[in-house]
This record gives sequence, structure tokens and C-alpha cells, in this order.
Amino acid sequence: MKLALFGENRLGVVTDDGVVDVTAVLPAHDPDPVTAGWWRALCRDFHALRPELEAAAKAGPALPLNGVRLRAPVLNPSKIIACACNYRDHVAEMHDVQQRTLGHIESWMMDFDVFLKAPSSISGPADNIVLPAEVVAAGQEIHHESELVIVIGSGGRDIPEDTALDHVLGYTVGLDVTVRSAADRSRRKSYDTFSPIGPWVTTADEAGDPADFQIDLVRNGDDHRQHVNTRDFITPVAAIVSYASRMMTLLPGDVVFTGAPPGVGPIQAGDSLETRISRLGSMTLRVVR
Ligand code: MN
Repeated sequence: MKLALFGENRLGVVTDDGVVDVTAVLPAHDPDPVTAGWWRALCRDFHALRPELEAAAKAGPALPLNGVRLRAPVLNPSKIIACACNYRDHVAEMHDVQQRTLGHIESWMMDFDVFLKAPSSISGPADNIVLPAEVVAAGQEIHHESELVIVIGSGGRDIPEDTALDHVLGYTVGLDVTVRSAADRSRRKSYDTFSPIGPWVTTADEAGDPADFQIDLVRNGDDHRQHVNTRDFITPVAAIVSYASRMMTLLPGDVVFTGAPPGVGPIQAGDSLETRISRLGSMTLRVVR
């Protein structure tokens, strides 16, 4: 099942015919993003609600996808967890990137780990990526990182690896937009619009093997910068969920970026970034000042 948020944070199911508004199935709904805990409750209770959601999706009517404004398909997550150094070829390229942007190598940044991004950095498939004036004025590079994104269903702590995938609601597509500078990761990656997510969440059963997603990023139509398969993860999805849950309790609706593929590079105002993942969909995002 493909779950989308659209318009005034309506809940939709994406079908072959378009988006069906299934908001009426929810026990509670609040369009105000400040008070909207309903989406986290949906992540927690999805399996119980699923039969009604499926029936509503089948009943229709479907709205054409190009006639609605898709929002980020996540709302008020308690946190965005993000992985660093999850592909060997990306770790290798970061030696050159750090030498160019920092003038030296930060060896502690070359190992797999997780860190946090501000949830307020989330934007949707219809939104632009806005480059912060202070960063542009400082001449610092801002990079795309095109990543598989996990959405947590049932939370937990100290989750064993062999049951970790049971805690995954689904998967979506995200960009971890990143300033290359000497600042802390949470600062460099948390500007507004630095976490575009979408176009919808594909539930785990429909998404298939998380160790076989093809990720691509194409800049300006012909600059094919990132092309990788998640089978090349250093730390696979189940191990990421388990590892993160030993550090912090995972809550329903938490969002996990799984790490940058090789091919990271600078973006500029005027760029168009198409990011796509097999079976999950694609987004084309404009970069503006
Ligand atoms: Mn990243």
C-alpha cells in the first residue's frame, strides 16, 4: 500500500488510478501540523487499520495525481535519524571532499554511525530546496545525498536485528541536503527544506527486499550523479534499526535516512534534482535561493 499526505494533510492511498482520500477511516484527524499526532498513531496502528484503508481505497473515487499537492508523507516525527558512511565508495570519495572543503581529513567522520537532523527540515515533493543565504554568502558547498528512507511503525528500544524489520512501516525517498563545513552534522543538515521526503510511503510488504533498491539522482536532466543499489550498504536496514534503537527509543513515525551513496556533489540555485528509487517512486525538486 502507498500512503500519501496531500492538500491540507489529508491521508491518501495511491492507486493505479490516482489518490483516494481515505481520511475518513482515521479515528482522529487534525490538519494542523502542530497538533497532528494522528499520523504517528497511524504508523503505530497501521496493521489494525489496514483492512478499512484498503476498502476505502477500493471504493474510491481517485483524484488524478497531478491534480493534488503532495506533502511530505511523514508528519511530526519525533526525530530524524540519519546514517553516516554506509557505502564504502562514499567513504572513499569523502577523503577528497573533506580535503577540498575542510583542508584536512576528519577521521572520526569516516566510520558508520547515526546522528540527528531537525524534523523541521522536512519538506515535500512539491516544495523547493532553499539554499540559506548565509551559506551561499560564505561560499560553502551544499551537496545532495540521495537516500533510502525508513519510516518506523511500531517503536521500541534494544530491538534485536532478527526482528527489526517487523518495526518498519515502510520506505520512501529522501534527500539529505548537506553543507560541507566544519560545523556539527546536526547544524549543517538541519536548515529548512534540507530533508525533502516523498512522494509517498510504500509499506514494507509492497516495497519488497530492502537490500535491493536501486537509487538514482540526476541533476538537470542529464548529469547522472548517483547510481547505487542498497545491497552495497555497509550496515543493512535491519542492523540500522537495531543499532539506532540501542541508542534511543524508536517511536512510531520516526524517520531514518540510510546514508549517502557515492557521487555526492554541489547543488546551485536553478538546479533541478530528480531522485528516484526502484518500486518507491521519484521526486523532481527545484533548488532556489
Ligand atoms: Mn546523508
